Amino acid sequence: MTLQPNEPLSNLRDEAAAKLKLHFDHDQPLSAAAPGRVNLIGEHIDYCDGFVLPLAIERYIVVAAALNGRNEVRLRSENQPEAVISLEEKMTLSEPKWANYIRGVIHGFQERGHTIPGFDACFVSNVPTGGGLSSSAALECAVATLLEALLDTTLPTKEKALLAQKAEHDFAGVPCGIMDQFASAFGQKDHLVLIDCQNGEPEMVPFNNPELEIIIANTCVSHDLSDGGYAARRKDTEDGLAAVNKQSWRDVTMAEVEAAKEAMGDRVFRRSRHVVSEIERTAVAAECFKTSDYANIGQLMKASHDSLRDDFEVSCPELDLMVSIAEEIGLEGGVLGSRMTGGGFGGSTVTLCRKDKARDIATIMHEKYQEKTSITPEIFSTRPAQGAHQL
Ligand code: ADP
Ligand code: MG
Repeated sequence: MTLQPNEPLSNLRDEAAAKLKLHFDHDQPLSAAAPGRVNLIGEHIDYCDGFVLPLAIERYIVVAAALNGRNEVRLRSENQPEAVISLEEKMTLSEPKWANYIRGVIHGFQERGHTIPGFDACFVSNVPTGGGLSSSAALECAVATLLEALLDTTLPTKEKALLAQKAEHDFAGVPCGIMDQFASAFGQKDHLVLIDCQNGEPEMVPFNNPELEIIIANTCVSHDLSDGGYAARRKDTEDGLAAVNKQSWRDVTMAEVEAAKEAMGDRVFRRSRHVVSEIERTAVAAECFKTSDYANIGQLMKASHDSLRDDFEVSCPELDLMVSIAEEIGLEGGVLGSRMTGGGFGGSTVTLCRKDKARDIATIMHEKYQEKTSITPEIFSTRPAQGAHQL
């Protein structure tokens, strides 16, 4: 199967409920779902006061839960060790690691004055883990939505997303921006989530042409470089901003970057050129979606990929290959645009395409990629999906 199907949410819900019955003998669970996300454009500029344009994908983590009358939380998830979280002590980092995301979310509710009752919960998921599609944000948002149900309360969506982000910072040690949790929490069917990372406000941008679809192709590689690479890129952008003597990248023009080229040195200059051009591209792409100018979006996606490859240097041969296969298929074959998505050094590409051609495109991407790398990629398609919600 080269284009993997997206299971209906109701199947995941039934599966989670069946697991809760099997492991903990609960009937009538409360359940919640939260999606992964993919970023269409706006890469490596979330920490530069830029814009990002992600969407929630039709891949979810679903949790089914019921109160257990104890002072502890018992958790099960596929391929993960069982976890028990005591509610008698303050939440701290502990084992197993995957439960830290849940400890972090519980902590966020406790900080807001809520008393968490003991409960049992089972998770099922079809969000690929560690594939750059933010299974971690889906996990946090699913738990936050479950706690809303258990506590019979509702947090404003932005507060819920920020609580989830803080869980990731403090309990998983990942200093992520706001994109992942905002996309998972705010996602809406037929909408992209434009996020202004300077003021943290999301805006829903319509993606309502029924003839379009988005293909996500996981290259299934991840190069070790990523940890140090990310920190080094952040440092380069800080140096670039200092060189133009500005407080925010949003106030920097390309002319100012050009003028500071010598002071910056070649590497920081190229990083800076990426930041300023990608901020511009993302703002223009959002306008294009608003005016249904899809041809132009393909050009912007191409320019974004080229800039990430050449100026920001966060692509890798496998991402470049997957993108070039899509580009070769071209408009005639139904591809509007393609680029790497996420932090880079591996992970996934995102391709905007015609829905009626998605299967053919995925088949070609799968076959050519496999032929050249001997790696089997994971490819599926999606439309913008609904964000975290109770089921
Ligand atoms: P990404 O968010 O890109 O998928 P991360 O490394 O940020 O990758 O998050 C992956 C981690 O999130 C996993 O190692 C695991 O701890 C946790 N996780 C994700 N999905 C699940 C799941 N279904 N059940 C339990 N833990 C999960
Ligand atoms: Mg993550």
